[in-house]
Amino acid sequence: MYDVIVVGGGNAALCAALSAREQAGRVLVLERAPQEESGGNSRFTAGLMRVAYRGVDELKQLIPDLSPQEIAGSDFGSYTEEQFLDDMARVTEYRCDPDLTEILVRRSLPTAAWMRAKGVRFTAAWGRQAFKVDGRFKFWGGLTAEAVGGGPGLVDSLTQIAGKAGIEIWYSARALSLLSDDDGVNGVRVRRSGKTLEVKSKAVVLAAGGFQANPEWRTRYLGPGWELAKVRGTRFNTGDGIRMALDAGAAAAGNWSGCHAVAWERNAPEFGDLAVGDQFQKHSYPWGVYLNAEGRRFVDEGADFRNYTYAKYGRVILQQPAQFAWQIFDAKVKHLLRDEYRIRQVTKVTAGSLEELVAKLDDVDQAQALRELKQYNAAVQQDIAFDPNVKDGRRTEGLAVPKSNWANTIDTPPFEAYAVTCGITFSFGGLKIDGEAQVMSSDGAPIPGLYAAGELVGGIFWFNYPGGSGLTNGAVFGRIAGASAARFSKR
Ligand SMILES: Cc1cc2nc3c(=O)[nH]c(=O)nc-3n(C[C@H](O)[C@H](O)[C@H](O)COP(=O)(O)OP(=O)(O)OC[C@H]3O[C@@H](n4cnc5c(N)ncnc54)[C@H](O)[C@@H]3O)c2cc1C
Repeated sequence: MYDVIVVGGGNAALCAALSAREQAGRVLVLERAPQEESGGNSRFTAGLMRVAYRGVDELKQLIPDLSPQEIAGSDFGSYTEEQFLDDMARVTEYRCDPDLTEILVRRSLPTAAWMRAKGVRFTAAWGRQAFKVDGRFKFWGGLTAEAVGGGPGLVDSLTQIAGKAGIEIWYSARALSLLSDDDGVNGVRVRRSGKTLEVKSKAVVLAAGGFQANPEWRTRYLGPGWELAKVRGTRFNTGDGIRMALDAGAAAAGNWSGCHAVAWERNAPEFGDLAVGDQFQKHSYPWGVYLNAEGRRFVDEGADFRNYTYAKYGRVILQQPAQFAWQIFDAKVKHLLRDEYRIRQVTKVTAGSLEELVAKLDDVDQAQALRELKQYNAAVQQDIAFDPNVKDGRRTEGLAVPKSNWANTIDTPPFEAYAVTCGITFSFGGLKIDGEAQVMSSDGAPIPGLYAAGELVGGIFWFNYPGGSGLTNGAVFGRIAGASAARFSKR
């Protein structure tokens, strides 16, 4: 008999297990994946975590080893709880659950500091979230801290810490269903290396991820066409945790037809590849333009900072003819392109003139593409200065699809274009929980002994999400779920 069983082996699950172990004796983690593929989507991340902080002193709770030179050379600014709350409200179009969102925001820094105290190391995301201005790195977009070693570093570190804390982890152990009676949930049916067994526990935490790797559920809930998307991360998040809880009477919550989806290498494999990680993503579109198969722009590439648009633009690409688009840049912005543009596995063309460029764009109406680029160039308000660090207001005038910031003309060779499609990150719909991370039943009361955290919880993210909130969400509610489950196990 275990005190707490945690289903899942990613960030939310491992944080739940560590938190449970602070109060409970026997804690078991069930990870469906074999050890070499363990860690869920969390392993695929860059390890970026969105936390509210009021300046470098608070940031030092996570990154105590910031050197005086690093501090002098960086403008970390601040990202207040109010800004984080505003960002959540704005990007979710005011649908995010207010109570859960408040917990997410207010516990973001203390939870990351708790992880640091357990032994997870963080650094500042100089490479990804800062630009050099007058010799100093200026951070932007509220996303400053990342786990050392990115997602793999985060998962490996949490796994090691869990091992040292005496937490058992079973790999290749797929939870099949919950064991329950009139008093609530009391264990899990598991298929472990080909054998089915019933494992008893006093409480269960579900942290088994969303349903994005299940093409049938994608089509059923996200809508027709979603079976055509590529999966950015793990192949193991097929909605098992959600299904098990719904079967036990849990209430569904949140944006079941919504998901996080981004621009992703057009010829990437069906699921994520750990050797490439998140590098198939192509996030520098604010510095260029998109063209679809009809040779037309279809989205405001500069509507906001990348952090606030990238998660919803994958869907827009999926809606284009043949579900793909080209991102086009000229030499003026080449130095701004993120590292992911320099990997080997890209579908890329280069050209010395716009005419040559459009001739190389596979599957595109070339004549229209050339007209579109020229029309776009003519619409750029060149008297407004370009500044990648702020929403510079350098925009187009008079186009049906405007570009609101960072509108540079595309006129300086060599030109580059990258082919992308839609890569789904995670589904937004899931289980209803309360502030103690208890899973609520469809009759309204909590299901005794059942807790949930991470991707499979619904109600927090809708339509879109502020980058770096996924790991924070898993950590904050994982920690709460683990503590609640451990308390329940002691009743
Ligand atoms: C390429 C990529 C980059 C990303 N970058 C970032 C980033 O930088 N910052 C950020 O905050 N977020 C990022 N995200 C989102 C982030 O990965 C997720 O929000 C977060 O990791 C979810 O954590 P989780 O623990 O809930 O799920 P996961 O980490 O996916 O863990 C789910 C676990 O459940 C296991 N599982 C599934 N079914 C079962 C079952 N039946 N039995 C037992 N185990 C099961 C899986 O094997 C897995 O271990 C990124 C996602 C991807 C795909």
